[in-house]
Amino acid sequence: MLYRLKTDFRLSIITLLGASAILGITPFAVFRFLQGNFVAAVVDVVILAGIVGSVTCAWVTGRTKYSGLFLAVMTSSSAVVVGAITGEPGLFWLFPCLVTSFFLASPRLAIIINLGAIFAMMAQTDIFRSLVQMWSFAAGAVVVSACAYVFAYRNETQRERLEHLATIDPLTGVRNRRSMDQELAWAVASADRSGETYSIALLDIDHFKQINDKYGHGVGDDVLVEMVALIQQHTRRTDRLFRFGGEEFVLLLPGTSGAGLETVLNNLQQVLRKHLTHPGGLVTASFGVAQLLAQESVDDWLSRADAALYRAKESGRDRIIYAQPHLGHTETTASQAECSLT
Ligand code: GH3
Ligand code: MG
Ligand code: MG
Repeated sequence: MLYRLKTDFRLSIITLLGASAILGITPFAVFRFLQGNFVAAVVDVVILAGIVGSVTCAWVTGRTKYSGLFLAVMTSSSAVVVGAITGEPGLFWLFPCLVTSFFLASPRLAIIINLGAIFAMMAQTDIFRSLVQMWSFAAGAVVVSACAYVFAYRNETQRERLEHLATIDPLTGVRNRRSMDQELAWAVASADRSGETYSIALLDIDHFKQINDKYGHGVGDDVLVEMVALIQQHTRRTDRLFRFGGEEFVLLLPGTSGAGLETVLNNLQQVLRKHLTHPGGLVTASFGVAQLLAQESVDDWLSRADAALYRAKESGRDRIIYAQPHLGHTETTASQAECSLT
């Protein structure tokens, strides 16, 4: 729980808002009820129920984007409703909502929500004591929203940039190992939950060091970039390619197994054999493939693919070896036979 609060910024804001709302609004609901102002008390209770509902939804489903948007719309429109029922207090409630909407929704949506709430408040002219007060409120609310927008926009672009730097390999543009660890863990969790099949192929360029040594590091880099482009052109959009390190890549294939898996990888092998080149000729790669087993950990899954890759190298390179279900067994296969002939 603490881990999710630390790593998911929007979830932490939604939770903080939920806790503050319960502490801040509950006394008002009780007070209005005791005062006999039942309409306002019911509005407070509805607001509280909406907030608690969307916080619970965010925790259970993990869809903080929608819960956050719902909360931003709900809190701002609640301030407008409070304005309609109690008058001036609604104006004061709107200001914290104008700021928090930027934490809950994207900057663009938050500014639309805020402008809508400001206009809705201004449309209720009887809340204001004078025109001067109404325009002072409008100017103050727009300035607060504009400052929060600039801050949130900068924050979002910096977060995106940091995320890019932390997850993308700068040379090839594919996801890096850190990102792979996360996605393989999600794949294992999804397989446990829904029974979805996942396979990985560990690809390693053959004799890559010789290319570097003979033609230079720059040529080696070009081969890596070219290989990534070829793999991406010949796999599905849902397949994920990661740079595992050096000249090794991991291809995650969701929903692919058995004969389908063999077809995809044989095709990929043919494409690389035909189109992956360097100044000295063609470049080949070896493949170690493993389908995720029931209850298998990420480490065991990767180890089986790695053992299969080792066998592919050992038995002559430029071939695809499929891992046996269990570590320690000899890897197999149809493809090995096929590749040995080629
Ligand atoms: P094998 O067929 O057994 O895989 O042999 P190999 O030469 O491909 O494998 P080895 O592990 O001996 O060499 C990998 C080389 O990859 C060594 C390293 O300098 C090079 N390398 C790692 N990262 C990069 C990179 O980003 N760019 C370039 N150009 N070379 C890299
Ligand atoms: Mg290699
Ligand atoms: Mg290697």
